[in-house]
Formats: sequence, structure tokens, C-alpha cells
Amino acid sequence: MRYKCVTCAVEFDTIEQLARHKQQHQAGSRSSPGVLCLGCGKGIPLEPSKANYSGPLTCPNCRRTLTVVTEDGEVVVARLG
Ligand SMILES: [Zn+2]
Ligand SMILES: [Zn+2]
Repeated sequence: MRYKCVTCAVEFDTIEQLARHKQQHQAGSRSSPGVLCLGCGKGIPLEPSKANYSGPLTCPNCRRTLTVVTEDGEVVVARLG
């Protein structure tokens, strides 16, 4: 059986994975929503798959690319280019 997150419709194989995913939702809600774009100042939503991520992230608003490092859904480093 598959476990589905009601918030973002992502499916998981185990309830443990879903529980961890939901923790990331809670972690995201207490801090800022995603990454703040250094080009246009708007928030870039951070996908659950990028909760622990290091690499480029393209702003859907101004199409500029940031280099970000995230840990547990929180942004550690964000810079343009
Ligand atoms: Zn979700
Ligand atoms: Zn932007």
C-alpha cells in the first residue's frame, strides 16, 4: 500500500518515509517558506526532495539561478550564480 501526503500529493512506500516527509513540512512552516531569491526577493518553494540539497536552484519568478545549500529543509547558504 502507498502512503500519500495530503499536502503535496507525493507518495511513499512506507509510513516511516511519510512521517519523515511530514516532519519536513512542519520544519518548513516554522521557518521561511523556501529560499528567498537574491535576484527578485521572492520566495522559491523548496521541494521536500531538496530538504538536504547542495547545488543550483532556479527561481521560477526571475529565472536566475542561485547556488544553495540546505540542511533539514533550512537554507544554510544561498548566493547568486
Ligand atoms: Zn508533502
Ligand atoms: Zn527571483
